[in-house]
Amino acid sequence: MNAATRYAIVVGAGPAGLAAAEVLAEAGWRVAVHERMPNPARKFLLAGRGGLNLTHAEPLETFLDRYGAARARLEPAILAFTPSDLRAWAAGLGIETFIGSSGRVFPAQMKASPLLRAWLARLNALGVTLVSRSRWTGWHAGAVMFEAPDGARSELPAATIFALGGASWPRLGSDGSWTEAFRARGAEITPLRPANSGFTVTWSALFRERFAGEPLKRISLRVGEQVVRGEAMIAAYGVEGGAIYALGARLRDAITTHGEALLEIDLAPDQPLDILAARLGRNRKDSSANRLRKAGLSPAAAGLLREGVEGSALPADAEQLARRTKAVRLRLTGVSGMDRAISTAGGIAWNSLRPDHALACDPNTFIAGEMLDWEAPTGGYLLQACMATGRAAARGVLARFG
Ligand SMILES: Cc1cc2nc3c(=O)[nH]c(=O)nc-3n(C[C@H](O)[C@H](O)[C@H](O)COP(=O)(O)OP(=O)(O)OC[C@H]3O[C@@H](n4cnc5c(N)ncnc54)[C@H](O)[C@@H]3O)c2cc1C
Repeated sequence: MNAATRYAIVVGAGPAGLAAAEVLAEAGWRVAVHERMPNPARKFLLAGRGGLNLTHAEPLETFLDRYGAARARLEPAILAFTPSDLRAWAAGLGIETFIGSSGRVFPAQMKASPLLRAWLARLNALGVTLVSRSRWTGWHAGAVMFEAPDGARSELPAATIFALGGASWPRLGSDGSWTEAFRARGAEITPLRPANSGFTVTWSALFRERFAGEPLKRISLRVGEQVVRGEAMIAAYGVEGGAIYALGARLRDAITTHGEALLEIDLAPDQPLDILAARLGRNRKDSSANRLRKAGLSPAAAGLLREGVEGSALPADAEQLARRTKAVRLRLTGVSGMDRAISTAGGIAWNSLRPDHALACDPNTFIAGEMLDWEAPTGGYLLQACMATGRAAARGVLARFG
């Protein structure tokens, strides 16, 4: 193929699309990135507000396991662009990273904007064109169609890489509206569902008023056999936060099947039952709330004890109170909406995708990022997989066209 025809379009200027554009441009391709929003990578910038957890430094085997059922399909892309590669890539853009106490990797400045600025400058230097306010609308007679403020436009690239994202935080640009066109094209789509999202709980009015916005620190959560230690947040609508997200897929599936999920919370996982019971037994004349506080529980944790399925009356007996403290069962009644979910489960099904990331039904159309059917907890796994699959899709294009 001669240089004049080596033209690719990337649709979606999130981390997956930008990663794809970079690999193609480095290989000498002419690349245009079309983005419906006025600016690129809005969700990436929002992620920066929470510190921008780029990836995780745990052993690669453990890291890969975080992708659950999709591990085997994501593994080649991640082995070709590992967490260490991502850190080296960021360093190449002048952004140093550090490993936090939990193993999570962050840019030293804890922000996304310096990294994005440096990345866009590199893409610009490589000759990548960013076409903003250009919304992909589908295909027509073999052409890729866009709608821009100056009207409709059709493009005939050699290859197109789609990185349109999932459907969470739709006002940032990715709203999942691509599913119908891809289904009509012949791709199978696993329905999009919120992932890393909160769950609804019917709080008492008193608890909601007092504790919405309060963290529950150093707790342990259990669903079935799965146990996670970490932190959660009490929200007016229910619960959210890292430890909740880590159990999210299981909780969501239980709610889909049974209409509810029971979450068991150990509010004092560092205190064995007998020690906690002894501490709770010390000040018998105190109220339960005071005894719990003196045993190290926060007011929110103590309040939560009355919200469980066991009822609001607390046992007077210290051992029974300790047992309750180490196993509060909370009834989760639903999944909070897509609007505030961190990510999306579902997307283009793996059996519709070839190993080179092209659609089985259309070998010139490649897919990357959250559009694909995988999910992972928070901890840097999302951005790592988005960038790795973006790069994998670009390598797929390069391999196909030689
Ligand atoms: C609040 C929040 C915090 C997060 N924090 C982290 C974190 O710390 N670490 C982490 O790993 N992950 C984090 N994530 C998740 C991470 O940001 C996403 O997984 C990632 O941005 C997905 O990348 P993507 O490129 O696949 O899709 P997106 O980033 O969603 O990009 C898709 C792009 O496609 C564009 N687009 C959509 N449709 C069209 C169309 N028809 N035409 C043209 N353009 C279109 C969209 O406007 C968008 O710019 C966070 C997410 C949220 C919401």
